[in-house]
Amino acid sequence: MAKFRTVADLSDLAEKTILLRADLDVAVENGEVVENFRLQKAVNTIKYLIERKAKVVVIGHLGRPDGEYADEYSLLPVRFELGKLLGIHIKFAHIPNSRNSIRYMEPGEVLMLENVRFHPEEESKDEKKRQGFLSELVELCDVYVNDAFSSYRLHASTYDVALQFANKNRVVGMQLATEIAHLTQLRDKHQSPYVAVIGGAKIDSKINILTELAEEADFILLGGAMAYTFMKSQGIDVGASKMEEDKLKIAEKVMKAAKKSGCEILFPIDHVAGDKFEESAKPVEVDTQNIPAGLIGMDIGERTLAQYLEIIKSAKTILWNGPMGVFEWQQFSRGTEAVGEYIALSAPRETFKVAGGGDTIAAMNSLKVNMRNFSHISTGGGAMLAFLAGEEMPTLQVLGV
Ligand code: AMP
Repeated sequence: MAKFRTVADLSDLAEKTILLRADLDVAVENGEVVENFRLQKAVNTIKYLIERKAKVVVIGHLGRPDGEYADEYSLLPVRFELGKLLGIHIKFAHIPNSRNSIRYMEPGEVLMLENVRFHPEEESKDEKKRQGFLSELVELCDVYVNDAFSSYRLHASTYDVALQFANKNRVVGMQLATEIAHLTQLRDKHQSPYVAVIGGAKIDSKINILTELAEEADFILLGGAMAYTFMKSQGIDVGASKMEEDKLKIAEKVMKAAKKSGCEILFPIDHVAGDKFEESAKPVEVDTQNIPAGLIGMDIGERTLAQYLEIIKSAKTILWNGPMGVFEWQQFSRGTEAVGEYIALSAPRETFKVAGGGDTIAAMNSLKVNMRNFSHISTGGGAMLAFLAGEEMPTLQVLGV
């Protein structure tokens, strides 16, 4: 990896106008931010810049408005929440009318621009459209800073606009630098035993990382709906559990690769099931690995937890991504909560512990898992997994990473 430039390498920031792509995609309900983890992590870079009297123009997205304005995806609530965290007033403008707002900024001020995804150019497949979209901002700003690790797709605000700044004027923000440092350590310098705890629902988004982990990790502890696809691929009955029939072959391939490289993949050996996939479902303990017909596995059981705990206790490196069950419903949240606590409290202090992913962070928040006992909590879900799997990430390459 080349040595990349960060905000700390910028000199003479006073009066400079900075275009900062930040990670603003947080949970908003009824016009209020209900979960602000990413905003907490956005604060350091902004503080650093305004303390040095730069003018900071913040751009970012919220949700998936698909190129059209929609009130529910407005960044206004995010502007207020970020302002609260920084203890300052943040100005606000829509991108097409932002020219004068930027021109007349004072040193040390922050201006947030409305959701970049209200414009179809942001995610357009047409490179020219993407390049043209923010080119006016390039004229008005001196430096581009990317601090939005989770937005790793090739979009106008994360890639094309960066390309329009000179090499020395496009740099990595503080949170992004932290992500790169910790995840590089996990990917390239992990100590054995390396234990990966992987859950959640969608195999698709995790197949590359699973293939990589099958090579690199000593144990993969599976939970969530994903585990049922793996179990089914090994001929185990999963009843009416959520699983992906078209991913059975892939699951089998991962199993084979793991076997070859000496990585042990474990599935749940008991379960908490329900007879319907509804919040009112009554929990039924299934004390066997096979799940009876008609029942839906919704959480891992106590014997599984005991087995997973022993392995977690022996780990020198831990990666956690994805809940172990339907943690949003209290009667199926125990597995996720317990695994989070085991990693936080029962694994040795010196163990390198990394967690990440929107659902994993939401679960940690709602189940009150102690985040401080983790070495690193990534702001990216898909991005974290892509980085660890060694996928090409053009948004980082453009910054010299
Ligand atoms: P992902 O985005 O792939 O990490 O999936 C997260 C989602 O998986 C959460 O909303 C969980 O409710 C869901 N999930 C976890 N375990 C199960 C399960 N056994 N059955 C159905 N959904 C599950």
